[in-house]
Amino acid sequence: MAFITLNKTNFFNNLDIITQLTCAKDKIALVLKDNAYGHGLLEIAQLAEEYGITKAVVRSCQEAQSVEKYFSYILVLSDTPTTSSTKIRYTINDLEQIKKFAKGSKVELKVDSGMNRNGIEMSELRRAFEIIQKQKLQLEAVFTHHSSADEKSEVYDLQNRNFITIKKEAQKLAQEYGFTPLRFHSCNSAALFREENFNEDMARVGIGAYGCLELEENENVKRLKPILALYGEKLSSRILKEGECVGYGASFQTQEECRVTNYDIGYGDGFLRSCSNHYVTPQNIKIAGRISMDNSSFITDKEKLLIFNDARVAAKQASTISYEMLTSLKAYLKRKIIEQ
Ligand SMILES: *Cc1c(COP(=O)(O)O)cnc(C)c1O
Repeated sequence: MAFITLNKTNFFNNLDIITQLTCAKDKIALVLKDNAYGHGLLEIAQLAEEYGITKAVVRSCQEAQSVEKYFSYILVLSDTPTTSSTKIRYTINDLEQIKKFAKGSKVELKVDSGMNRNGIEMSELRRAFEIIQKQKLQLEAVFTHHSSADEKSEVYDLQNRNFITIKKEAQKLAQEYGFTPLRFHSCNSAALFREENFNEDMARVGIGAYGCLELEENENVKRLKPILALYGEKLSSRILKEGECVGYGASFQTQEECRVTNYDIGYGDGFLRSCSNHYVTPQNIKIAGRISMDNSSFITDKEKLLIFNDARVAAKQASTISYEMLTSLKAYLKRKIIEQ
């Protein structure tokens, strides 16, 4: 069966670099949403705990519960709680949502600083504090999210300026409404790596920890190493004569006699179909024809075929980003942790 390897040495290397930037392990909140970016939620949670990471960010309450034993702090980004927990914090994305939380819930307030996606508006800060107090929730942090931290952009600067304003106002409101000390965080991986002097309470790091951050001319980014590799296993192999076709639509035709082997990895497993006809593996092995749901063919005779070991490189061939390449990988694929 097709499988995934997770390189523990590379993961710890990335966490070392991130720790240098945050200056403390407990300022890293490792983002584990979407099955830990396709790496495997439990596998990554266990490794993170072993490294000494204490904080995690997830999308849903269900994810939070399944990794609860590994961390002392878990932030749920977009779900409303079904149960209460001392470890789990819930994100407020909208004023309307505040009424839905159970009394006593720990919450963090997401404020929109210019991405215009989710979070309350800056002008709604006081109103939010009022309702949070009325609902008897425990407000622990105010945070925001960047739209453009991975590119040169005026929006990045604008959002940073807005967050300074948000922090000042929230500090005052925290005094007034009795929510002190209030914590603040805004950085994703790209923002953390491009900032010279990180000075917030926490950074929410996803793609950087998985070694697939892309940021131009950044020495720390160059030291990151991808941790996930995807392999297919041989299903069948044949020698084809010149001019024979392979796969659906017969879209590939051999130029000369060659051996073509079919592997058990297809778009149904997360090997994106847009890689059909032109994909080349890290070992320079060429795909033959279209990717099927559960298999794909390559011009080689290997027993096990490395499909990709750097999602950034594979993503370019699929005209997408590493995030999509990784999160497309189905949870049922077996994950093996390797040391080297
Ligand atoms: C996904 C996400 C992150 C992590 O972003 P990376 O670019 O992977 O570091 C951080 N914060 C929020 C709110 C997110 O949704």
